[in-house]
Amino acid sequence: MATTSQVCVIPGDDAAPEAMYASLRVLHCLDLPIEWDCTPAGKELLDLEIDEREELFQDRINAADTVLFGASNGTSPGARYMRWGKLTFANVRPIRWQTGFKSPLKDPEGVDYIIVRENLEDMYVGVMGNAKDLLDAGLSDSRSRLPEGAADGKFAAKIITRPGTEQVAKFACDLALQRSGKLTVSAKTNMLPATDRWFCEIVKEVTQDYPGVQFEEFIVDDMAHRLVVRPDELDVLLLPNLYGDILSDLGAGTIGGLGLAPSGCYGHEFAYFESAHGTAPDIADMGIINPTATLLSAAMMLRYLNLGSAADRLETAIADVYLAGSDLTPDQGGDANTERFADAVIGAL
Ligand code: ATP
Repeated sequence: MATTSQVCVIPGDDAAPEAMYASLRVLHCLDLPIEWDCTPAGKELLDLEIDEREELFQDRINAADTVLFGASNGTSPGARYMRWGKLTFANVRPIRWQTGFKSPLKDPEGVDYIIVRENLEDMYVGVMGNAKDLLDAGLSDSRSRLPEGAADGKFAAKIITRPGTEQVAKFACDLALQRSGKLTVSAKTNMLPATDRWFCEIVKEVTQDYPGVQFEEFIVDDMAHRLVVRPDELDVLLLPNLYGDILSDLGAGTIGGLGLAPSGCYGHEFAYFESAHGTAPDIADMGIINPTATLLSAAMMLRYLNLGSAADRLETAIADVYLAGSDLTPDQGGDANTERFADAVIGAL
């Protein structure tokens, strides 16, 4: 008999819990060897101070094998802890078009690649401040193009490290070897040699230890264009944190929108799963959020828990609902609400 896994569910804020509760109804139909621990969500949390919330959620996260996370607007804690506390360095964002997904592309057939976004470094290290402090520290040289009045400006630091880049590059190479073997890397190499050129060079070095990996590199603005005009040429795309954040929303747009894009954040000892979208506050309480991204993230989670056949069943049921096309949510051009879509997936199961 399969061992039972503990999954902590953090439903999140605004419209995210609506997607999560509908997804849980679907997941419960799969009869999984999972014990679920669902935390309070959204406004239910406001009675607790932020420190109490953090502590409560950390205990629940630490007691679990993994976490299914709805998006947070800052009310639901946990994301920061799971990312930097648990060092989940690789954010994996599959971009795969399926029949029935309402893509704006003329021919989305064949769009099937994975963005691996470095998840801990780059502009997200949170080092920001007054530009004067940089200037006072002598951090300006003849190549800088500081405008007049820079001393009154602000800065945000971009930090790339060799160990951080190597570990995500190895992860991306392993992933590429499970697929076609092609690894594409992209950053603003021409304008930012110290960070972005270096990032790509380190990735290229790492690929030398993976003879089965074919390496290619593009400047990130060219990459944005390629994601729209030639997405079928990509397989695994490795990006520094900020570009990965932005370009994965672009990628989601090409297959039919944010409601369709799942994601998982992996470290050496822990992983958690969440849709790529935010909390969709503009459609909160309307009951129309598309739960597909949450469900596909749950399928990634099931594979992480070695429940691959359940993941296959879930993905097939979702694909069947899109193929039929009669129970889709408004973002996909349908008139179904979140619960009707979930009922259709349950029916397909
Ligand atoms: P964040 O900064 O937290 O990532 P965001 O600013 O990118 O959030 P989202 O919450 O992702 O914003 O929403 C962007 C738009 O996409 C909104 O109009 C939202 O309603 C829509 N959207 C996002 N997710 C879904 C979904 N699952 N179903 C339908 N619409 C969605």
